[in-house]
Amino acid sequence: MNILIKNIKSLAGIRDASVRLLKGKELSDLPFIENAFLHITSGKISAFGKMDELSAYLEGNQSSINETIDASGRLVLPCYCDSHTHLVFADTRENEFIYKIQGLTYEAIAAKGGGILNSAKKLRDMPEELLLEKAMKRIEEIISYGTGAVEIKSGYGLSYEAELKMLRVIKKLKSIAAIPVKASFLGAHAIPVEYKDNREGYLQLLINRLLPEIAAEGLADYCDVFCDKGFFTPEETDRILSAGWKYGLKPKIHANQLAISGGVQAGVRNNAVSVDHLESMGQEEIDCLKNSTTIPTMLPSAAFFLRMPYPPARQMIEAGLPVTLATDYNPGSSPSGRMGFVVSLACIQMKMTPEEAINAASLNGAAAMELSDLTGSITVGKKANVIITKPVNSITNIPYSFGNDVIERVLIR
Ligand SMILES: [Zn+2]
Repeated sequence: MNILIKNIKSLAGIRDASVRLLKGKELSDLPFIENAFLHITSGKISAFGKMDELSAYLEGNQSSINETIDASGRLVLPCYCDSHTHLVFADTRENEFIYKIQGLTYEAIAAKGGGILNSAKKLRDMPEELLLEKAMKRIEEIISYGTGAVEIKSGYGLSYEAELKMLRVIKKLKSIAAIPVKASFLGAHAIPVEYKDNREGYLQLLINRLLPEIAAEGLADYCDVFCDKGFFTPEETDRILSAGWKYGLKPKIHANQLAISGGVQAGVRNNAVSVDHLESMGQEEIDCLKNSTTIPTMLPSAAFFLRMPYPPARQMIEAGLPVTLATDYNPGSSPSGRMGFVVSLACIQMKMTPEEAINAASLNGAAAMELSDLTGSITVGKKANVIITKPVNSITNIPYSFGNDVIERVLIR
């Protein structure tokens, strides 16, 4: 397809190909061109510029245009890049939502058969084809909300067979989804019931049986661990992540959601691509990230849903860190894959500016999946995964209209 978008009120998120990650103050700049055009050829961004340069550009360009879109009054931006989801799951968990409203604790909900183990039970019973069908619908849904690349974790299997089943579903999604998909092995999401009194046995299953099979079948890009109070310790995390490295899986981990748990330090010392959640952060954790290449990823819709404190985004930005935003889309703590809502929460609850939040949700999200050479900005040669908004006054309208969809159309490739 050869598509020309013209009369764009503002084309935002323009970057040089060399810019792959935005740190600290750099996040506040969202470069744009007013009254612009964007030309897409064979699924990639082939050119952009000011409208008064368009006729000269078209004269020098031989290719015929299949579709022209008039974007008068509208903004065009790069799609969001959601670098943390659990969107392969068997079913929603509304019952637990009611329990939470009634004030039941996490432990009480688990005692009623809820939590991660509830999702694991349902997933183990579901055939692979049905899981794939449900996950594919969710991918189509998040694309309609403006997501143009996504990472998906296992971790609702928690057995040899069911973890492989989940990862095989994610591998199939990679080949059939219209957007890039990255896979993370999160066998260390929780200790399954069968191993309640045998943690070591479960660690050995992950390290000695699952990791070799995952590597042999090419089922994952990353290795994840829920390194937090009540889940996996920093020492256990070290063991799992160093085993993952041996099979070529880089770490991307859950850290510091429930407590200052040593998760950030474990991520940094294992050269994690990202440490995600970060609701519980102290100065030591921020300093640790400053001296690293590990990307801090915040998941504010999980904090919102669980009524937890939000990550200290401003402190992290002021420390010069490359903060990133993702949805944590999952049936227990963030049953929503809307990146637009995450951007609103980042502004409203974490005092990020609209520019910072949009950058953190697009280019930095791509970097947290090692995809920033392919997507995440308006750059010639990158995938043409772009959002066209409804007519709006300015970019601020995106987070301001929280819960409303200001997206008119999403173009994928
Ligand atoms: Zn998560």
